[in-house]
Amino acid sequence: MKKLKVTIIGYGGMGSFHAKLIQANPEVEVHGIFDILESRQQAGEADGYSAYVSLEEALDDETVDAILIATPNDVHKEIAVQALEAGKHVICEKPVTLTSEELSEIMHTAKEHERVFMVHQNRRWDSDFQMVKDLYENRKIGEVFHIESRVQGANGIPGDWRHLKAHGGGMLLDWGVHLLDQLLYMIDSPLAKVAADLSYILGDEVDDGFISYLTFENGVTALVEVGTTNYIKLPRWYIKGTKGSAVIEDWDLKGKIVKQSGIELVAAPKPIKAGQGLTKTMAPPSEEAIIKEKFEKVATQMDPFYTNFAKVVRGESEPIVKNEEVLQLMKIIESIFEAAETGQVIDVREHSYSR
Ligand code: NAD
Repeated sequence: MKKLKVTIIGYGGMGSFHAKLIQANPEVEVHGIFDILESRQQAGEADGYSAYVSLEEALDDETVDAILIATPNDVHKEIAVQALEAGKHVICEKPVTLTSEELSEIMHTAKEHERVFMVHQNRRWDSDFQMVKDLYENRKIGEVFHIESRVQGANGIPGDWRHLKAHGGGMLLDWGVHLLDQLLYMIDSPLAKVAADLSYILGDEVDDGFISYLTFENGVTALVEVGTTNYIKLPRWYIKGTKGSAVIEDWDLKGKIVKQSGIELVAAPKPIKAGQGLTKTMAPPSEEAIIKEKFEKVATQMDPFYTNFAKVVRGESEPIVKNEEVLQLMKIIESIFEAAETGQVIDVREHSYSR
């Protein structure tokens, strides 16, 4: 089968990472690159790709099927529209755009030119998320009713453009877009309400972290938190179900599940001394009342992102990341900004995308 030829626009951290990932994919190959920085053009050539002198030259190359956009966020829209108008299919890095309106314009252009446009929401493929999705869907701790999803670091906002509003910087647009996408993709109910606080501890003009609280129509609640000033981290995932709790500590996937044993007659928990008081409520359950399990990694049946993209271009598959889902995500991010600014809980039901 003929491989799909892709040109990468923006050969920085993520652009060059894409090039490495694509090398292992049997359906897609990198043909060339373009970056506005001479040093990055040279880096692309050193990696074995031809560097175009301009975006226009890259788009004029008829041997190229698709463009992969890995530039700072503020120029995703203009490059995407130009590429679609030039007849190229497009893969675009997250956050797809700075506003939902910009994404609507891209979707309109893609439809008009009958080209595929797909956003790289790659964290749908993350192993930790796949484990949580499996736990949720297969009711491994009963009905999940609360999820906490966090990423925390102590290194502040990385790089240069991520500190600036004009480039679409800040952590809600950077990491928030991943964590929210995972929850919207997994939870089989529309999102109803959001509340949020953004943090500006580092004194930047953009948020260096945020906490948002989501309520889904089926009653599931979720806390989503991103921090860049956390010298001690909380677990990546903490999940509560009607029959147990589960935790995943970090990217190494260390985790555990503690759930009800199902044995009916068990000894009542013994009161413990807690601080200056006595408590039975907060005492550990008796040993026979619970089962402790390792939280195991699960195998996913999903095609890799690039394979799915190639199949969608050939008309053989549905996109795993749908533009309507990303549009909903962008509208919800706008509501989270609004919730943080106004201190209000925002009803987002009108944005809910039903699968
Ligand atoms: P980066 O600063 O390392 O790289 C961006 C590159 O784009 C730079 O080399 C810059 O010179 C170039 N550039 C800027 N404007 C350009 C233009 N108009 N045309 C061509 N090149 C241009 O940034 P990064 O960390 O690689 O982030 C790039 C994109 O990838 C962002 O949208 C970011 O959110 C996304 N990203 C995604 C993931 C993920 O896991 N999906 C991870 C990191 C970054």
